[in-house]
Amino acid sequence: MQENIIIAASEKQSHRCSMVQSTWQQQLSHAIRDPQSLCKRLGLSSDWLAGAQAGHELFDVCVPEAYLNRIAYADIDDPLLRQVLPLGEEALMPHGYVVDPLEEADHQPAKGLIHKYAGRVLLIASPNCAINCRYCFRRHFPYSDNSPSRAQWQEALDYLRSDTTIHEAILSGGDPLAASDRQLAWLVEQLESIPHLKRLRIHTRLPVVIPDRVDDALLGWLSATRLQKVVVLHINHTNEIDQTVMDACARLKQAGATILNQSVLLRDVNDDVTSLATLSERLFEAGILPYYLHVLDPVQGAAHFDVSDEEARELVTALRDLLPGFLMPRLVREIPGKGSKTPL
Ligand code: SF4
Repeated sequence: MQENIIIAASEKQSHRCSMVQSTWQQQLSHAIRDPQSLCKRLGLSSDWLAGAQAGHELFDVCVPEAYLNRIAYADIDDPLLRQVLPLGEEALMPHGYVVDPLEEADHQPAKGLIHKYAGRVLLIASPNCAINCRYCFRRHFPYSDNSPSRAQWQEALDYLRSDTTIHEAILSGGDPLAASDRQLAWLVEQLESIPHLKRLRIHTRLPVVIPDRVDDALLGWLSATRLQKVVVLHINHTNEIDQTVMDACARLKQAGATILNQSVLLRDVNDDVTSLATLSERLFEAGILPYYLHVLDPVQGAAHFDVSDEEARELVTALRDLLPGFLMPRLVREIPGKGSKTPL
């Protein structure tokens, strides 16, 4: 525990109580968005503030209260805190770490649309996130160039209509569920009118970060679509799954969604076999199947999270001795230009 604690526990408690009964939009608008408030809310030493400020200038802090509630007070080693606390190391520029590690800019035939793999395309349904994860491979993504208006979506939709080999639309972002339900319902309606589309996949962290996002309005358009639904959550540590997340997952399943999870292997977050095994077990309790364990994409600002390939392979070998096969995530890397993820 650090010295110079700069918040009283009672203050933390009163802030927590004030969020009860808020809508997801209110919770998002009350998210902490500056390093001073983050350190204060979590009782961190003021020693961390200068680094947090430096990191924040490169990629803004954003953490909602529902996620903060799962972070231990005054514990700099908390695995959830490590994912959201900016550090001075983010300013380092190690060789090989770049702003667009997956070279997505080369695969954008229309505004808001990325087409990298056969049979599926990715739509940037929202430029916003409910949380800013420090390791995010899109932390430098030019969202302002990829936020289509309704009229501009037509170009992306025409692209989808004209290619009958595309069977799956993937809503991504940012976080697609940060968009309004009205916007999402409209987009899904457009997609389901394309006969050769079979599946709607949603990559999101919102049901984890603000579980109240899975409300009746979302379940309305999700339940109604004819498209098969897959929700891919992004959970890196078992502490992220509390009862509110489990309840949100149950609601998604009732709406007919298959729920998968992808994690990123992150130094000082989940780089040990116990954390990974516990995560898989907990995911299954929540009705989620482990899908991928990604090694870090080499994005500028995130090098301090890196785990070597050799260590990653050793971890997965040890994990295999602990888990049944259906709880084993696939260890993969995304290599620009390849037609699929590459197993390690
Ligand atoms: S896109 Fe996903 S990983 Fe990146 S900051 Fe947003 S929620 Fe986090």
